[in-house]
Amino acid sequence: MTAVAETVQAPSERRLRITEIFFSLQGESSRVGLPTVFVRLTGCPLRCTWCDTEYAFHGGGYRSFDEIFDEIATHGTPYVCVTGGEPLAQRECLGLLRELSDRGYKVSLETSGALDISGVDARVSRIMDLKAPGSGEVTRNRWENISYLNASDELKFVLADRADYDWACDVLAQHQLIGRCPVLFSPVQGKLAPADLAEWVLRDKLPVRMQVQLHKVIWGNVQGR
Ligand code: SF4
Repeated sequence: MTAVAETVQAPSERRLRITEIFFSLQGESSRVGLPTVFVRLTGCPLRCTWCDTEYAFHGGGYRSFDEIFDEIATHGTPYVCVTGGEPLAQRECLGLLRELSDRGYKVSLETSGALDISGVDARVSRIMDLKAPGSGEVTRNRWENISYLNASDELKFVLADRADYDWACDVLAQHQLIGRCPVLFSPVQGKLAPADLAEWVLRDKLPVRMQVQLHKVIWGNVQGR
């Protein structure tokens, strides 16, 4: 009994610092376009040069798991995306991902690739970045994470210029990533023209999914969308 009691999480620990919870269309990944509830966790240990969610670095407020579940349920969709910031920077995120999956949600996690993803519930689709040099955070890539990726996960490269594109192609080849999971190539808005990236992908016949951020096409770069 004692051992069991020690592993049960105290109710007060089942909480997370949250920047926002909102309902929108999934703007990226293979789930693009699907009505989705986003749970944006506060905090990130990285500082990508082109980060578009700097407002999530600080602030936010603590919400219990039950409060989070209640708000998600009001939107009536099975799709939940846990994002940030860097969600895995908060230890309790793993519990949230597990309990959302227990409740039958189709859960995705957007993560920088800088932290260990091995503890993420197997039912969760991990959308993991590999940071290219243009991000300023290439040294933060946790290369061991690649071995944990499977067909239900996705690997995302956000590219600022041609040098980033060449780097990503080299990484795909060196780590034999094609076939391990879907691969996403995204241009940094305002730095790399989508048409240029599209031309490069077509010219090289790369079996990757070129994507732009649908929510920004529709609404622009606004918080809560
Ligand atoms: S990992 Fe994501 S949230 Fe963190 S600085 Fe980079 S883009 Fe921003």
